[in-house]
Parts: sequence; C-alpha cells; structure tokens
Amino acid sequence: MVTQRIPTSEPTIRVGIILPEDEQTHLDINLLDPTKYQLVAHTRTIELDSTSTITRVEINNDGLLVTGANVDEVFPSKFTIQRKKQTEDQIPKNLIQIHPIVAGRSFHWRKIVTAELPGNIEFNVRNGFLMVIDEVPLEQYLMCVATSEMSAACPTTFIETQTIVARSWFLAKAEQKHSDLGIDVCNDDCCQRYQGAGNLTDHSVEGTKSTYGQVLMYDGEICDARYSKSCGGMTEGFENVWKGESVPYLSSIPDMPAEYKSDDLSLSDENKARDWIMSNPEAYCSPRYVPERQLKKYLGSVDEECSYYRWSLEYSQREITDLINHKLSLNARSILGFIPERRGASARLIELGIRYIDLKNQEGVHHLRSEYEIRQVLHPQFLYSSALVVIPEKVQAGIPGRFKFAGAGWGHGVGMCQIGALGMAQMGHSTNDILTHYYPGSSLNKIYS
Ligand SMILES: [Zn+2]
Ligand SMILES: [Zn+2]
Repeated sequence: MVTQRIPTSEPTIRVGIILPEDEQTHLDINLLDPTKYQLVAHTRTIELDSTSTITRVEINNDGLLVTGANVDEVFPSKFTIQRKKQTEDQIPKNLIQIHPIVAGRSFHWRKIVTAELPGNIEFNVRNGFLMVIDEVPLEQYLMCVATSEMSAACPTTFIETQTIVARSWFLAKAEQKHSDLGIDVCNDDCCQRYQGAGNLTDHSVEGTKSTYGQVLMYDGEICDARYSKSCGGMTEGFENVWKGESVPYLSSIPDMPAEYKSDDLSLSDENKARDWIMSNPEAYCSPRYVPERQLKKYLGSVDEECSYYRWSLEYSQREITDLINHKLSLNARSILGFIPERRGASARLIELGIRYIDLKNQEGVHHLRSEYEIRQVLHPQFLYSSALVVIPEKVQAGIPGRFKFAGAGWGHGVGMCQIGALGMAQMGHSTNDILTHYYPGSSLNKIYS
C-alpha cells in the first residue's frame, strides 16, 4: 500500500479534459478575455490581445495547427494557454470556453457539452489525437465539481458536504485511473464530474470556500470518500464492489432515520433482497425525502431525468440475447434465465449466472463476477445499478418471451448517497451529521488554510 502524502498547502492539479480515447482531432476555443492570456510553447511565446486571439486547434501532419485572429501557427507537439499574471484569484475568472467536450464517456448518459475552464490549458498530441489538460488550483476544481455533480440549486449544507467528499476522494488518491496519461483525474464520472465554471453561483462558491482545506480522515489518513448517485436505501460495502479488504468507513449502512431501521436488513439474503427491491422503504434517498419532481432541479445538467430510487426496464428475448451475445462474444440462441449467485449488503448483485442455450441447443451458464461486469453486460451502455430482480415473462417451452428488470438505486452505492445526502440536508441535518452518517468513524480535519 502506498503511504499517503497529506498536503500542507493548496495544490495545483492536472485534469484531463479531452483524452486520446475521445479520438478528437479538433476543437473550438473562445477566450472570454484574450488580453489575460499568452500562448506558450517550447520554442516561443505569443502574447494574445483583443486583435490577436485563437479560436481553433486541430491536428495536422506536423503537429497542432492553431488558428484565430492574426494567429496561424503550427506547434510540433505541445503548447499551453497561460494566464499572464498568475493571480491569487480564489474564484474562477476569465474562463476559456472549449467545445466539443464529451461528458459521460461510455455511460448511458453520454453527451457533448461546452466547458468553461479556469486555470491554464495544455494541448498536446497523443496517439494521433488531441489531449487537453486543465492545470487548476484544487479549490477552483472543487467549486466546479460541486455544481457539475449536482446543481447549484442544492442547499448549502449539501454543497459543503459534496465538496468535502470530493476533496477527500481526490487527495486520498486511492484510485489513480490515469497515471499513464500524466494527469491526476479526468473530467468525467469515471473520476469526478468536472464541467468547468459555467454553472457556478455565489451560493455554490460560498459552499466551497466555507470548507476550504477540510477533509475527512480516519486513522491518520485522508478517507477515500467514494460516493454515488443513489444507494437505493442501503449503502454497499467497499469490498463488494472493489477488490481488497473491507474499509471501516465504507461499510454498509441503512440510509434512513433511526426510527425506520430494522434488524432485518440482511439484504445479501435472496428473499430479503427481492422484497427490498420490490418495495419502497423510507430511506433518505426515497421520494419521501426528495420527491422525483424536485430531482430535476437538484441534479447536474447532464443527468437523465428518470427514477433513481426504484426503476424498471424491459427487454424482449431477442434484445437481451443480442445484447449478451454482443457484450460477451457468446453464441446463445436464447437466454433461459438469470441466477442470482451472490449479493452484497445493499442487495446489489456481485455474482450472477446467465443460463442460455447455444446454437447447437446445448445448455450453458455464463458467470458474471462483479458488480461492474453485471452493469456493463446487462445494458447497451451501463446499467443503473446491480441491485435488481429479473422477472421472466411470457414463458413458452421454458423460454421467456420477455424479461422485466426491477431495480434499486443508481451507481455502486458505496459511501455517500448523493440523493440521500440531499434528503438529509433538506431535513435540516448538518454537514458533519451527513458526513458521519455515510462515513462512520471518520472525522473532519482542516489540513491547509
Ligand atoms: Zn477518470
Ligand atoms: Zn441512499
């Protein structure tokens, strides 16, 4: 295990905005105030102003072609749009608009957005495609994350909570998904959603500033504070979603007020899991605390409008067979059914058997062995959650004509439940109450000021 470094002052971080996997070859740029910037490459520096600015970057044979008003240059490999004066601004200003940017890379909510970015922007070429990196002070990054993950309309308590959690997750650096690309994080749900400063409001900025430098700690280390959209009423244990030992502050907890908690919530039991998913327990993330019609206002602008707490989905026999054959390179003629083999503490499936007959009419079972794999295989993009019950319908000669999926929650369910935290904030719980509810045993510490 890597020993954690705890920073004593605010770090500047590198966020991947466009990655080689986006296979992007050009982008449009709009500098809201060009006089504030200069273009710096290995070979030279170009001062920008109101008459000379850049509007487009594209890959050409010799490197990066940069064009705009009175600018037409090719840089061999890399250049940066730098702020002339590295001011001590605490709030993102003089933003750089970049379009197009992919949001929800490879998820079912994939969209193209425009980002308005603070910091310095580095452009380079990787594997023949564009790579764009935002070098930004951590606190400005966090301001943007809070209003990209959820909307600025959320109560202050929620924004503070989300910011402390995002700061802790970032500084714990437990995941490091992109170290090969020379960045700390990407801009997307794979790490934390970061769409720039376009959605900031005074109120959301305040929520970040009031928690400056605060992190959750456990046993002398910054907590790897995982979170997801909706737990479905019970959070999941770390060890059921990721490989490794259980983590004390990421253990499963019922996401509800004490009066509703019962001792009977052992949801790894198949019958109990089924009853749980098919019912509507009064959890903080349930419509009782956050009515569905309010969610639109509170969710980030790229989230789909739909049911997060309890959802359903249907596939015809043809659709599910095609989907599974495609995802698993299987040769199934028909899918006969699904065997729940192991569930985690939140009723999320962590092992699932798929019964099928192949083209030679031989029966087989294919085993999916993780929450991630189950979500990856059972949806054309990515299934909302693996807390689900499959109900076969219109069965003829042992072969279902349709499958109905009934599910609970959205995301992996480990750590903070964002919609539940919103429900708690609306009930008047404090930031500290919400954090200790989702991360039992952790404490809040200020590591820099
Ligand atoms: Zn990432
Ligand atoms: Zn929840």
